[in-house]
Amino acid sequence: MASDNPNRPLSRDRPVQRETYLDWNATAPLRPEAATAMSAVLARCGNPSSVHRWGRVARQAVERARESVAALLGNVNPDGVVFVSGGTEANHLALFGSGRERVLVSDVEHDSVRHAFPGSETIPVDRHGVVAVDALDRLLAADERPALVSVMYANNETGVIQPVADIAAVTHEHGALFHCDAVQAAGKLLLDAEEIGADLVGLSAHKLGGPPGIGALVVTGGLDLAPLFRGGRQERGRRAGTENLPGIAGFAAAATAALEEIGVYDRVRALRDQLEERIAKTAPDALVLGAAAPRLPNTAAIAMPGVAAETQVIALDLEGVMVSSGAACSSGKVGPSHVLAAMRVEPELAGSTIRVSLGWNSLEEDIAHFLQAWTALYRRRRGVTEGARAA
Ligand code: PLP
Repeated sequence: MASDNPNRPLSRDRPVQRETYLDWNATAPLRPEAATAMSAVLARCGNPSSVHRWGRVARQAVERARESVAALLGNVNPDGVVFVSGGTEANHLALFGSGRERVLVSDVEHDSVRHAFPGSETIPVDRHGVVAVDALDRLLAADERPALVSVMYANNETGVIQPVADIAAVTHEHGALFHCDAVQAAGKLLLDAEEIGADLVGLSAHKLGGPPGIGALVVTGGLDLAPLFRGGRQERGRRAGTENLPGIAGFAAAATAALEEIGVYDRVRALRDQLEERIAKTAPDALVLGAAAPRLPNTAAIAMPGVAAETQVIALDLEGVMVSSGAACSSGKVGPSHVLAAMRVEPELAGSTIRVSLGWNSLEEDIAHFLQAWTALYRRRRGVTEGARAA
C-alpha cells in the first residue's frame, strides 16, 4: 500500500519518498467502513446493559455485530460469538476457559498460545511447517486426561495453512476439544466453521481492517466456557466488563467489508507469486520458506542468505519499504523465529528471513518498489562479499 503520510513535514528541498507498507500480517489499515461505524457509535451514549432506550440501541448494535462477525466463519450461530480484547485474549479464553487438564499446542503457534498455558505440550510440525497429525494422534493416545488441542488455521510468519479438518477429526476421536486460532486467515480466505471442525475459533479485528483491541472467541457448539474475567453478566457471563462498543462496531463493519471484497485476494496472490518469481530470477540463492505447503495468498517468508533479517528490515525501511523480521507482533522483538526453528530451518538461514505480507490495497507499484530496494541490497551485499573474497 502506498501512502502520502499526512504527518510528514513538507520540505521544498527533499522529494517525498514513496512509502510501501508490506507488513499487513502485523496489522492492517482501518477500513473506511470501520471508521464510519465507529464514529457513529462514538457520537452516541449508551451502555448495552442499560434498559432505557439508549441502552437498547447499544444492545442492538452489539447483537447485529455478532451476526457480522459470525459470518466470517460461514453459518455459525451468532450466539457463540464472545467479544474479547483481541486475538491474544481469545486464545487465553479458549485455553483456560475450556477447563481441560491437558493442553496441546503446535510448535508454530503464535506466542499468545505457546506461552499461555503452563505445562502445555508441543505438537511437532514437518519441514514445511505443517502439523504432524500422526504425532498428535500418538500424543493424545498416550494420556487419557481431558485435553484441548490448539492449532492455528494459518501461520503469521510463513502463511502456511494447517490441515485443520484432519486435526479436528483426530482430536475429536480422542474425546478432546479443538481450538483454532484463525486470526491470520479470517478475512483473507472464506472460512467455514463446519469445515474447520473446531469447537472454538479465535479472531482479531485489526488483522482484517478493524481497530486493534477487539476480537472474538467463537464457540461453535454448546461448550460451556469459564470466564477469565468475572463480576458482570456481559457476553452471557463469558466475559465480564462493559462491552467495547466502538471496537465491536468497527470489527463488524470491517468483517462485512472483508467478506464483500474477499475476491481481491486472487489479485493479491498473483502479486505475491510475481514477487517470489522475480526474486528467484534475481537471486537464485534466495529461498521462500514454507512455499511447498498450502499458504495464505498474501504472505512470503523470504531468506536472503548471509544478510541478517534486521539489516534487511532497516535497509528496506530506509528506502520506504516496510516489512518485518519474523513475527513482529510484539514491537522490538528480535531473536530467532520459533516457527522457522520448528521447521528445522538452519539458524543462520532463519536469521536472514524477512516476512513480506500484502493486503487488499497492495499494488503492482508496491511490489516493484520492494523488488527495487531488495535487489539493490542483494547486489550491494553480494558485491561486498565477492570483493572481500577477491581481496
Ligand atoms: N494469533 C495470531 C496468529 C497472530 O498473528 C496474532 C497477532 O499477530 C495474534 C494471535 C494476537 O492477536 P492480537 O494482536 O489481536 O492480540
